[in-house]
Amino acid sequence: MEKELQVLEDYIAQNNLKITRQRRAVLNAFAKCEEHVSAEELYRIVAETEPRIGLATIYRTLALLTQSGLASELDFGDGQKRYEHKFMHSHHDHMICTECGKIIEFSHPIIEKLQEEVAKRNGFAITSHKLDIFGVCGDCR
Ligand SMILES: [Zn+2]
Ligand SMILES: [Zn+2]
Repeated sequence: MEKELQVLEDYIAQNNLKITRQRRAVLNAFAKCEEHVSAEELYRIVAETEPRIGLATIYRTLALLTQSGLASELDFGDGQKRYEHKFMHSHHDHMICTECGKIIEFSHPIIEKLQEEVAKRNGFAITSHKLDIFGVCGDCR
């Protein structure tokens, strides 16, 4: 959390913004979430200690966290954006159950390697990638 706070403070200083108590509270709550949390879920958590915070502040702070490299923004097409930790976390892809909404993280070296090969064959330099697999999980089948 201290390192995360440092990253956010550096980003905020570089961009002439202010680290407010509410922004700190959002970072604090986000740092404790090991899930793929939506802005509204985070809002409910933060509102317990910051009852005057608005959803707009949550969205703006999540954008800051994403821009500073602390968070990744995820969109699984269900109408709400989700966020997960990026800082000091390794790359992974997602499987999403369309029945219960469960999100499974995975990574496979062969998939990663194949993507590199396909890109190379197309003269393409990958800067990032997302692989979302949709289907029905073992519990729902
Ligand atoms: Zn399921
Ligand atoms: Zn994830």
